[in-house]
Amino acid sequence: MWKWLTVLCLAGSFVFAADSSVRTFEFEEGTVTAIQDAPGGMPLSIFHGGTEAWKKRLVPDGRVPSSFNVFLIRKNGKQILVDAGNGGRKGTLVRRLRSLGIARERIDAVLLTHMHGDHIGGLLTSDNKAAFPNAAIYVSEPERGYWAKQKNAALAQQVLRVYRKHLHVFPFNSSVSEGFTARDAAGHTPGHTIFEIGKIRFIGDLVHGAALQFADPGICAVYDMDRTRAVAVRRRVMEDAAAGREIIAGGHLPYPGIGTVRKNTDGSLTFVPLAENSGSKGKN
Ligand SMILES: [Zn+2]
Repeated sequence: MWKWLTVLCLAGSFVFAADSSVRTFEFEEGTVTAIQDAPGGMPLSIFHGGTEAWKKRLVPDGRVPSSFNVFLIRKNGKQILVDAGNGGRKGTLVRRLRSLGIARERIDAVLLTHMHGDHIGGLLTSDNKAAFPNAAIYVSEPERGYWAKQKNAALAQQVLRVYRKHLHVFPFNSSVSEGFTARDAAGHTPGHTIFEIGKIRFIGDLVHGAALQFADPGICAVYDMDRTRAVAVRRRVMEDAAAGREIIAGGHLPYPGIGTVRKNTDGSLTFVPLAENSGSKGKN
């Protein structure tokens, strides 16, 4: 009897336990839910710049804490995603959305920061159909233009084909869905985009290894296609966020991937993750 009760209790706590890969923050700008599509960590070897000793000091175990994050914004009755995660076997986005009571058919828009596989794979189902059949897909003109012409870009081209009637291709500095503004953050990819709303900046892949790149924004991951531009935009966005107390939310910032930037007395920068339910609603 006791044995069965224990089993039932364990089952209950498993079923009803809050999903630790889904965390919600309330802001004046809307409700932002950080969804961990997959856990992640990056090897030190993919980061260029800095001495080996310096990198080892900041990351003693050689694995830079990271994550694959997608952000859901609920605003004016609309459900908007920033990026769509990995898809395939690795991605858990659709399952996480379901745990929030949101069917994939109810997603109204997906804002793409860029078209790397870990951000667009989740747009397709396992049989290459639209995972979000009622969503408008927003992508910058230079990003769409670049991937449409590449020889080895089957996934990006499949996404562009499947969603061709839902695509909204925008120039930088234009307004997109529900009050977001798209800013030029090219460098990581030719059309890499930051989406701004109020004080929140969805920075895409501006940062791959927070432990290194806030300490020195000049450090690049091998994935940055144009390193000079990537460094310039990373430095500017981090400095602005520290000065203006903006909120940044990034695809590979350690989960939940949303927080502020602190400028230390020696001038260096540190990423400060938000605690859950600590959005700015009502404060400013
Ligand atoms: Zn990425």
